[in-house]
Formats: sequence, structure tokens, C-alpha cells
Amino acid sequence: MKALIVKKDSLIYKLLDLDTNLYIEAFVKGKLRHQKLDKDSKFNFNKSNKTKKDIKILQIIPKVGDICTYEKSNDRYLIKDIKERKNDLIRPDIANVDQAILVFSVVEPNFSFNLLDTFLFISYYNHIKPILLITKTDIDENKTIELKEKLNYYKNNLDLEIYYINNNLFDFSQNHLFENKITVITGQTGVGKSSFLNNLSTDINQKTQSISKALGRGKHTTRNTELFYIYNGFIADTPGFSQVKINLKDPNLLKDYYLDFKKLEKKCKFLNKCNHININSNLCEVVKKYDDKEIILERYENYRKFYNEIKNMKKIY
Ligand code: ZN
Repeated sequence: MKALIVKKDSLIYKLLDLDTNLYIEAFVKGKLRHQKLDKDSKFNFNKSNKTKKDIKILQIIPKVGDICTYEKSNDRYLIKDIKERKNDLIRPDIANVDQAILVFSVVEPNFSFNLLDTFLFISYYNHIKPILLITKTDIDENKTIELKEKLNYYKNNLDLEIYYINNNLFDFSQNHLFENKITVITGQTGVGKSSFLNNLSTDINQKTQSISKALGRGKHTTRNTELFYIYNGFIADTPGFSQVKINLKDPNLLKDYYLDFKKLEKKCKFLNKCNHININSNLCEVVKKYDDKEIILERYENYRKFYNEIKNMKKIY
């Protein structure tokens, strides 16, 4: 029998059976067996240096978002096995996240390109599709127009889906945004995550209220993550990415998570060896496009800043 793990409460797991659509409670069979992994396995994804032992065997603890098989044993349901993970986040503790809705306001707090580029990095690094939701578009019209123009760069060069909402009036029941997906919602305090959820729909208000309550929690509160069914998909009641930083050890890898730069590197003299930094514009297509103002200033400057931060971090060790 196959199920999705929607909640974990110490030893008790809440599962949604994928055939019957019924919720059941299950336990882990003994100490869940050690699974054999190869070095490319997404299990233990965040461990950058897998030891030989890690590669050979690893005790997998099921978590929310896992697809598992389970069986009935005496009068209990037991989780037997879990499927390979698409991604594996630590904080929040959740697996197989499909997409992240990144909530930003135009003002109060002011839009931050630094935070946007950081969130985009985290999303692409974890194989999560980012979706941008811009709130408070009615407070300062000029700022909104200016921001839209800049964000068009992201829309066109990253195929980033962007929604602008005014007073949180947006009917997500009409599109298929959540369908068959596990979604996390993330953003700074004050951008309107909670009111966005409360306005999703009235019939699911009960659920969204508890999610928005969870989103409003202080960042140091630890609580178990739960998946809520919403518009044929699932939303995780977590405050989103709690580690908002670029955790790369090698600055040379940063460019690989810049899909817009990636498209251009074919025209760089040193191809994928080019870091697009400290290089003449006739040797680097990214620098050339930046000089021609085809790449917005913030995007490139943040990239350079992140690159140097990673590089300087490396020196400490
Ligand atoms: Zn280049």
C-alpha cells in the first residue's frame, strides 16, 4: 500500500493512502531498515561529503513529504519503505517539495533584490520551482511600476511565474497553482503571507487559518511540519526557508544556479569555466550583457557579492 506522509508526531505518522484517499496512522517498522545508497542519491542530500559508509548504508528516518509503502501488521500499520526523495530540506524538515511561493511586498517592508536572489538560489539548489507573489501593489504606484519593470527581467530570463496582488484579492481557485504539488510559502515578516492564505478561499478557511498561524510563528519556534490539502495539492504549514543564506563551499559553483547566466555562458570565451567576474566584456557574454544594461544591475551586483562572500568564507578555513 502506498501513501504520502502528511504529519509526524514523535513516533506516530499520519499517512494519506494514495489509492483510497483515507488518512491513517502508522508507525515505523522497527528501526527503519538501512537503505543502500549510491553517491548520487538524493537521500542525505545536504551532506556535502558523503563518507563511504554513508554511501553504502544509511538509516533513513521517514519525514513529512515522503512517499512510503506500508503494511498492516496485527492491528497496526507499519511503514516499510520510503521512496527516493526529490529533495530533502532540514529546516523545515520536509521532503519532496515541488514549489515555493516567495512572498514579497513592494513596500513595508521594501522589496529586496538581495533576498529575492538568495531565495532563488535556495530554490534552484534544492530543485524547487520558485513562484513570486508580490503584495501591497496599491500603496505606492510609482514604486510598483518601477519594480514590475525590473522583475520583467526575471520573468523573461528565468521563466519566473509572478503574481501581483492588491489587497490580497486574487482567486487561486481558478488556476491550478497547487494541483498535485507540495508547496511551501516563504517570505519576510509583514509581507502578507498570512493574509494571502486567509484569502485563498472561504471554504478552506479553517485550514488556511491554522497554516497562517503557523507561518506567523517566531522563527525559533520548533514544531512539527504538517501538510494541508488545498486545491488538489498540499501546502506545508512551515514559516518557509529558515536558513536564508547561500550555503555553497565553492564559489565556482554559484553560476550554475543562475539560469539566466547559464544560457549565456556558451558565448563566454571560457564557456562553463567562466565565472563572469573580473573579466573583459569581449570575453564574457554576461559582463557584456550587464554593460549593455540587459541584465539588471541588482541581479549582477548580488551575484558578485555572493561570489565574494563564498570566496572569503573559504579563506577562513
Ligand atoms: Zn562569462
